[in-house]
Amino acid sequence: MTMRSLKAIFLVGFLVLGFLTPASAFGCFAQDVKTLPVPDERYKVDILLVVAHPDDEAAATSYLARALDEGKRVGVVYGTRGSSGANDTGTEQAAALGAIREIEARRALATLGIRNVWFVGGRDTASQDVLASLASWGHGPILAELVRIVRLTRPEVILTFLPGTFIGEDHGDHQAAGVLATEAFDLAGDPVAFPEQVTGPMRRLEPFFDNLRPWQTKKIYYFPDATREDIFKAKGPTIEVTGISKSTNLPYWRMAVDSFRSHETQAKAYIDSFSKLSEEEITKKGASDGWSQPQEYVLGKSLVGGSVTGDIFEGITPGAIAFARVAVPAEPARTDLSVELAGTWDFYAKFRRAHGLEQLPHPEPPEIALQAGGTLVIPLWLRNETESAQEIKLAVDLPAGWKVESGAGNFRVAAKQVAAARIEVSLPALPPADANAKKVDAQEVTVRGEAGGKPIGTVKLRVELRKKALPQ
Ligand SMILES: [Zn+2]
Repeated sequence: MTMRSLKAIFLVGFLVLGFLTPASAFGCFAQDVKTLPVPDERYKVDILLVVAHPDDEAAATSYLARALDEGKRVGVVYGTRGSSGANDTGTEQAAALGAIREIEARRALATLGIRNVWFVGGRDTASQDVLASLASWGHGPILAELVRIVRLTRPEVILTFLPGTFIGEDHGDHQAAGVLATEAFDLAGDPVAFPEQVTGPMRRLEPFFDNLRPWQTKKIYYFPDATREDIFKAKGPTIEVTGISKSTNLPYWRMAVDSFRSHETQAKAYIDSFSKLSEEEITKKGASDGWSQPQEYVLGKSLVGGSVTGDIFEGITPGAIAFARVAVPAEPARTDLSVELAGTWDFYAKFRRAHGLEQLPHPEPPEIALQAGGTLVIPLWLRNETESAQEIKLAVDLPAGWKVESGAGNFRVAAKQVAAARIEVSLPALPPADANAKKVDAQEVTVRGEAGGKPIGTVKLRVELRKKALPQ
């Protein structure tokens, strides 16, 4: 037998085997094609709203009523069940109150026809500190759950609270919802983020792997929790909500009011005040309470183009888009010795850089509203990149009547170390002329760092004193 005929026999054998093997191995023939299952379309949404507490959805329900009317599908995620605070209807508190509020939220959304609603198990945490909320919620497991919900619901757009520290309501849980939603926006499309969710099943009844697919959401928009309207102007679309719904014949904002009526444990007196009014009076009240005002959003980012102030769905077409890994710019250069603001303000500066959100509005100088008569804490990083220990002096300039409690003076920072420091300032009561006012205008606080008689950094903060404010 020649080499050539041997080769021919091998080739024929290979072709015959190659043709026969799949059919005999799997016991089927070419024309017998099995269709493999696809993701469940009932859970696909166009908009995923991510908020912190039952009733937070009211920040967006007038827009959602309009979007639903236009055929959009909507899902809502709550970070917590809202178990803190007073109960306006009964004796239940804490976890029992949370159990009630979950039902109130589901009812509120059901009035609009929204049934895909998830609670991811965070604990209602009353402060202005987003990092305290993230720690209290359990950042890791909740992020995994939110990424899972994004992959399950495949939203075109995510709507959530603006992540930032501002003078305003500024609830740490609201900020945490915005932080987690942004993280999920950037991670859900990444096949190596929570990879156990996106691998195929290994067993017939797979108990561990979700068998989801990565999903890159196309746009993220924020709504601010702040009073500084000036810095949010023209940073996103303004949406009219006075149009009339095809399904209910009511204005969209009016549907939002009806939806809100489910939150009786939070606002019974307010809800009851509506029940005594005529339609005409409700329209007046709707305008004065802000329900019928246009909804203002801030564009976080779009991976499909479109303009900043254009419609939320501008540029969005059906189907998946490729995963977009964020290109993170380098940390800004520093001198060898520096004093910088730490805490949430520092976190947000890094967060904006890490998530491609450097254009996101934020106050300069940083700001916060605090309860008069309380304490302002100024967290600081003292950086020493030199080869030897260094002495850093911290001095504070305060408005009249404010007093440094602790944290000013001289501090030694070891070589090549970043040390955490903290200045505490006792805040005065509201001045007698303003004792009945709810707040006084924000005032500036300055921390000056010096080493060897030379300035190494200045930290400024604008602080507004209020009759009432969440803890810092
Ligand atoms: Zn809330």
